[in-house]
Amino acid sequence: MDSSCNNLHVVIISSPGMGHLIPALVLANRLAATHDVRVTVLIVTTAVSPPESKLLKLPLHRELVEIIELPPVDISHLVGPTTQVVTQLCLMTREAVPFIRSAVAAMDRRPGALIADLFSTETFPIAAEFNIPKYVYIPTTAWFTALIVYSPVLDQEINSQYVDQPQHLRIPGCKPVRPEDVVDPMLDRTDQQYSEYIRMGKEIPLFDGILVNSWEDLEPITLQAFRENEALGSIVKVPVYPIGPLRRPIEPAGPENSSDLICWLDRQPNESVIFVSFGSGGMLSKEQITELAWGLELSRQRFVWVVRPPTKDRVDDAFFNKSDGYNDCTPDYLPEGFLTRAHDLGFLVPMWAQQVEILNHPSVGGFLSHCGWNSILESITSGVPMIAWPLYSEQRLNAAFLTEELGVAVRPEVLPTKQVVGRGEIQTLGRTVMQDKAGQAMRDKVKQLKISATNGLKHGGASHKSMSEVLSKIVHAKYNVDEN
Ligand code: UDP
Repeated sequence: MDSSCNNLHVVIISSPGMGHLIPALVLANRLAATHDVRVTVLIVTTAVSPPESKLLKLPLHRELVEIIELPPVDISHLVGPTTQVVTQLCLMTREAVPFIRSAVAAMDRRPGALIADLFSTETFPIAAEFNIPKYVYIPTTAWFTALIVYSPVLDQEINSQYVDQPQHLRIPGCKPVRPEDVVDPMLDRTDQQYSEYIRMGKEIPLFDGILVNSWEDLEPITLQAFRENEALGSIVKVPVYPIGPLRRPIEPAGPENSSDLICWLDRQPNESVIFVSFGSGGMLSKEQITELAWGLELSRQRFVWVVRPPTKDRVDDAFFNKSDGYNDCTPDYLPEGFLTRAHDLGFLVPMWAQQVEILNHPSVGGFLSHCGWNSILESITSGVPMIAWPLYSEQRLNAAFLTEELGVAVRPEVLPTKQVVGRGEIQTLGRTVMQDKAGQAMRDKVKQLKISATNGLKHGGASHKSMSEVLSKIVHAKYNVDEN
């Protein structure tokens, strides 16, 4: 505990959606449990989505963390059928600005600082109104941060679509990025979400500091570039604080599918199982599911696969893992007889599994992942190398980072969103990550990173110090204001 932060209170703003709420709450928990800071998380909500904080099973540090769901915003008059996700998120937080202002004004005492998430950078004037420091929390890499803040420069330098560029994109502090690996809002410069993204890139440097969910040993070059590179330094004059890896804790085993699965994992040899999952919403085409099934079977590697049907239909869990053997009605998106043949080799879980718990299991040795940053952190902090299978959002950039920069993953030759990855290639990727000599360096590297992640978060570790530095600046700013 950090006694100097006693009585410090900060506000975190979370944009809607589990993917944004979870990092906000994990940060809140870290501030409370490790630094003794009182945190209020203001959640932007919409009329159409359920109150998500109630769906979360995340154990919270209840004494110090308070969650306030703001009144729902209605953006139905502002969007059409083609409005993209980033635009929708920005519209929601924009509409919520008056609610955020009122919530801060209603607090007994002015908070010590405001921490905005990536999609709520437009809230920075509120901090000025209340005369409090403002920070932005980017729950992903320094690589992503470098790309977004440098995008306004690319916007000026490049006239046509980025994806049509013949050359890799050069971002200070990062390995050159293939044009096709850019984040979703950069795929089409004519869409409104591109303008929103460029605006965010311009607003991020206006905060007093940028918190990233990364750590010194993970991205030494990029973090150094933020300190020393002239091009980056002229854009971002405020410090970048690597405070991670912050990730969800292991959940207690639930009644759903977890216990059967964990018992199955307990029976497998160490590091012999590939875990296959595509995050909270990733879905594959029917053809791709079939190839993946064949690829896994041919690789002869054990696997746990979180299976989702190719449509939004509900998956019928009657198909899976009956203790009395498989029901042989293989769904039509899996190869005929797959369930029976795969019975000894694999475990299929319908729709959702307790990922953190699975990745932490000693029998898991590889992760075929869609490359969401939370999944990547969960994999690295479990010492598990990956097969990078990006689908959308910033996942292609993450996949490039894992393979080109970190060397802890392999990826298919062609993006899985461009072309179906064939069973032969999946078989090779599976064997490389799990057992071939070619994958040894990757397996060693990820274990080193796991250790560095743990060390960084310890009291006195680099990430702990980084967070403490932010807090001490907040305490000083508060002290100076209170004095005057
Ligand atoms: N997750 C899980 N079980 C699943 C799928 C996902 O527990 O079957 C969790 C996973 O552990 C991670 C989050 O959902 O914490 C997904 O976040 P990520 O950033 O990886 O991807 P997103 O879903 O936001 O694309």
